[in-house]
Amino acid sequence: MGFALARAALQAGHCVVLISGPVGLENPPGATVIKVVSTADMRQAVKAEIESADVLIMCAAVCDYRPATVHPGKMKKKSENLTLRLVPTPDILREIGNNKKDTFVVGFAAESENLIENAQKKLAEKNLDMIVANPITESDAGFESDANRVIIISRCGKSEQFEGPKSELGKILVDRIIEKIEKSKT
Ligand code: C5P
Repeated sequence: MGFALARAALQAGHCVVLISGPVGLENPPGATVIKVVSTADMRQAVKAEIESADVLIMCAAVCDYRPATVHPGKMKKKSENLTLRLVPTPDILREIGNNKKDTFVVGFAAESENLIENAQKKLAEKNLDMIVANPITESDAGFESDANRVIIISRCGKSEQFEGPKSELGKILVDRIIEKIEKSKT
């Protein structure tokens, strides 16, 4: 979805910095691409870029937990069970949203239940300008699919349903963001 959004924004004439985790996709020509692996790397990259950005769209499925310790080498196999201790990662979007000044901040909410209610809660809690609610229980939308079925919810409560290729959703989302920014200036 992030790559489709980057292409749509570039086509509309915007400068794009694409901060991406490990994916097997071709870089969109014209975008500045920053590759990251961990949530900590992504947080650092987003914080470095946000100062010069008018819009942040966070559609990465960021890891919510990381291993508490990382073994320096190969761990020796033992016969007893192994318990992996995970600790929460920082919520990048919440941090940016709650400290933002003029940046227009958009989040995604991948949900398996109570789609609208959960998305609206995230919009408020993370102080977002817009959220894209994304059901993930359907096989023909969301992760690992070229299509998506979403509801775009604005801060004012307005919502719009969309279903179709991610490339088309990218264009619609870029248009809606620009409309909102233009409207806020008048
Ligand atoms: O709370 P939840 O993880 O469902 O929120 C999803 C939104 O928050 C997405 O826009 C995702 O990119 C962002 N997120 C984040 N940092 C995290 C987890 C999620 O920025 N650690």
